[in-house]
Amino acid sequence: MVMTSSVNIGGRAYTIVDHAYDVVVVGAGGAGLRATLGMAEQGFRTACISKVFPTRSHTVAAQGGIAASLTNMTPDSWQWHMYDTVKGSDWLGDVDAMQYLTMEAPKAVYELEHYGVPFSRTEDGRIYQRPFGGHMQNYGEGPPVQRTCAAADRTGHAILHTLYGQSLKNNAEFFIEYFATDLLMEEDGRCTGVVAWNLDDGTIHRFSAKMVVLATGGYGRAYFSATSAHTCTGDGGGMIARAGLPLQDMEFVQFHPTGIYGAGCLITEGARGEGGYLVNSEGERFMERYAPSAKDLASRDVVSRCMTMEIREGRGVGKAKDHIFLHLDHLDPAVLHERLPGISESAKIFAGVDVTREPIPVLPTVHYNMGGIPTNYWGEVLNPTKKDPDKVTPGLMAVGEAGCASVHGANRLGSNSLIDLVVFGRAAAIRAGEVIDRASSIPPVNEASFEKVMTRFDAVRHANGSTPTAELREKMQRTMQEDAAVFRTQESLESGCKRMSAIWDELPDVKVTDRSLIWNSDLMETLELDNLMANAITTVYSAEARKESRGSHAREDYVEGAFGGRDDENWRKHSLAWVDEKGKVKLDYRPVHTELIADGIDIAKIAPKARVY
Ligand SMILES: Cc1cc2nc3c(=O)[nH]c(=O)nc-3n(C[C@H](O)[C@H](O)[C@H](O)COP(=O)(O)OP(=O)(O)OC[C@H]3O[C@@H](n4cnc5c(N)ncnc54)[C@H](O)[C@@H]3O)c2cc1C
Repeated sequence: MVMTSSVNIGGRAYTIVDHAYDVVVVGAGGAGLRATLGMAEQGFRTACISKVFPTRSHTVAAQGGIAASLTNMTPDSWQWHMYDTVKGSDWLGDVDAMQYLTMEAPKAVYELEHYGVPFSRTEDGRIYQRPFGGHMQNYGEGPPVQRTCAAADRTGHAILHTLYGQSLKNNAEFFIEYFATDLLMEEDGRCTGVVAWNLDDGTIHRFSAKMVVLATGGYGRAYFSATSAHTCTGDGGGMIARAGLPLQDMEFVQFHPTGIYGAGCLITEGARGEGGYLVNSEGERFMERYAPSAKDLASRDVVSRCMTMEIREGRGVGKAKDHIFLHLDHLDPAVLHERLPGISESAKIFAGVDVTREPIPVLPTVHYNMGGIPTNYWGEVLNPTKKDPDKVTPGLMAVGEAGCASVHGANRLGSNSLIDLVVFGRAAAIRAGEVIDRASSIPPVNEASFEKVMTRFDAVRHANGSTPTAELREKMQRTMQEDAAVFRTQESLESGCKRMSAIWDELPDVKVTDRSLIWNSDLMETLELDNLMANAITTVYSAEARKESRGSHAREDYVEGAFGGRDDENWRKHSLAWVDEKGKVKLDYRPVHTELIADGIDIAKIAPKARVY
């Protein structure tokens, strides 16, 4: 049932449209669509809200593939996949979530196949799988495993289009080009809905629901150079922070080794999976020196650090000796054409390079956020307390890159995100089937919560300071790029905290020039900046506080000891960060889950040890 009314905020009239659904999913990337589909399949009245057309979500850009131990090309098992994921996470991931992910992965991929994803095929017609960084045989002892299922180098594209079609078929309702601004929360901490602004006609929509699922993606755009789309602004994280809930493990930001130099767009790890390799200015395949067994297929944080060291030591390529070459020109042009057509095109457009003849200039580029909204492995959002670090926030779930289950811990393995999207999107739907009371009525709108949401919205819309949004955004992006980079020190992180706090203090001076409510990109970008800031400031404060090196959090002042600066005794725990309206960050910690959820793997196999490739 849809009801329309009007409300007066700050002396201005807004048209309000009310909706009631069993489930509202915010986000139509791989995670949001898999959750939407799962909810709709169970007969829940389900709405999916997206600020961009569903098939333009960042998932569409995923190239390399999706990890699952199908054994189509090499021996494999979920136990080996789990071991690699635990090791990749540098022992910060939650063991229950990582076991769930790897056990459910094959099922989730076959489901995608049956939904219609056009995977590449082997000679005998099975799903094609390629090697990817950090995925090995026999608990890391054997050669690279072929575990990453691919649809050429357009896997995300194939998955997203299939899931959108299936969601429509199951009568999910889409609200496209609606910008979700904030959650509707009750005094007792329950979530009962979400508010969204229809970008096309300026109306404000209140979605009441028994369950809200945040699937808003990552916040790569907090950095100056990122492979992620301009829409990856961490809006879910912003909504969580404003609801007084914490974000988890924000200091762990993944740099992908091969962003195209200058442009930032991605050359998939699949390129190295198919036999590509990196060289320095001396023509040396330097990864053989740093990671003798995995070489160019060591995990991403390792390869990014090695590249950075080569450049620092004067062995970078190009005029300024500030990047590295990726060679594919030794590969058979037919293989490039069949397996890597998308990146051959990107290299041509963004670097002017013909991959069959010349190397591609590349540089480590921000790619993925391991941290996000803390959840259990059913996608339920946590509001941890000292007494109960696993306390659930009723009515609220988070999945995909926005969430933190946590399966990637301190570093994500390539092709483990797409599988995270579908496994946990599906898990959220299964869980909703258990916790939603079908007989109960949909909760009414909490008017006090709504008024708070609208007061902020109206204030941003009429922001009348002297700093353009773009100027402040660039300041934030450059600060993050400089002070929370591949390598970090106490000095750089303290500087980052100071600079980010100063930028937060400038937020009230932002100027929005366009006051309209229709296709007002100025207003939308300012709301996005607010969200980015909540993510960015918690990132740098969490990083400053973590006095160790672990996964992507590489501190040059913590390199000693058997684990190369990793301190399991004091720091094998998740960071939690709250940020208030004034930009004050509060930190706390919760324990890592170390218990298995099922038999089948010897727990001693995944006990912490040094992480070498
Ligand atoms: C170039 C690139 C290549 C990659 N390749 C791979 C790969 O090969 N394998 C792999 O495993 N991983 C890969 N990754 C990582 C992976 O693709 C992402 O982590 C994943 O796609 C994120 O999916 P998501 O569903 O969480 O979010 P997204 O796909 O980013 O979708 C977010 C959704 O939320 C919506 N949204 C956001 N904010 C709002 C708001 N305020 N109101 C309404 N809607 C909102 C957006 O409209 C969008 O629909 C790649 C990432 C990039 C950037």
